[in-house]
Amino acid sequence: MNASTRERFTQPRDGIFVVKLRDAGGPGSGNFGHAGRPGKVGGSAAEGDGEKSEDTKQEAKQRGKAAEAFHSHFKSKGYKVAHVDELPAYIAKILKIREADTDLPPEALSGIEAALNDIKTGSPALHAAVLDTTFVYGHRKDPNVSATFGQTKEGNYFVINANEDAVADTYNPVDPTFTVGAKHFAGDPEQVYRAVMLHEIGHLADAMTGDNITGALITTLAQRMPIDDIPDYFRRKVSEYAMHGGPKEAAAEVFASTVLELPLPTELHGFRDDLKALLKRAAPPKDRRLT
Ligand SMILES: [Zn+2]
Repeated sequence: MNASTRERFTQPRDGIFVVKLRDAGGPGSGNFGHAGRPGKVGGSAAEGDGEKSEDTKQEAKQRGKAAEAFHSHFKSKGYKVAHVDELPAYIAKILKIREADTDLPPEALSGIEAALNDIKTGSPALHAAVLDTTFVYGHRKDPNVSATFGQTKEGNYFVINANEDAVADTYNPVDPTFTVGAKHFAGDPEQVYRAVMLHEIGHLADAMTGDNITGALITTLAQRMPIDDIPDYFRRKVSEYAMHGGPKEAAAEVFASTVLELPLPTELHGFRDDLKALLKRAAPPKDRRLT
């Protein structure tokens, strides 16, 4: 890849990992979105921190104040939280994550809280699904990931990266058009993290609808332009990441823009209004993926 492409890919971004129910634990299982390592779930090929033990009894003693602070803040508001040592071992391996040792800046914390309140107010049904999703604040090896949504057989996760480089780059990115959060709020940790959290909740909403938010977005545009023009349209009208991350990232970016009432191109106004209506009236989730 050329220099400018490489630069775009070192921008703060997020990730999705999806572990399909039917594939869980079996040979060749897994479908990890950005991680791109199918077949490695539950395998022995992890390249995480070598010294890290899978013995949860050992790791329980290593819990730090930073994760405790983040978790107790959201737990007190009714959200589910988990420490790194409480994650299934294969998920911890995929994420290359360890217990956080630095606090998230208070502005970023309040940005995440603002996003949760946006959903609580605007879409009680989606908020019920958010309440059923587990928050993990942990230090990931990858400094270019801000947050991740994960859908697994154990349930859904929001993973917020404590890596200080990732945190700093999230609200002060090299390319301020990379995400809708950076594009509209670069330098403002609270608003950028609010947008990041809404982007992740967009992935959750998409998953709840069987990826229909992504499907409807692409269908809407395919009726108006040649399909080959859609990626560049996303880059010009939504964000760089909406193009580079693929259709699901575009849907999450448009979701965040919709909830934040950020400007969207006229071609997407109908989609935006349908999405708003869906959020208001959506029935409680049937499938909460709890065992
Ligand atoms: Zn995403």
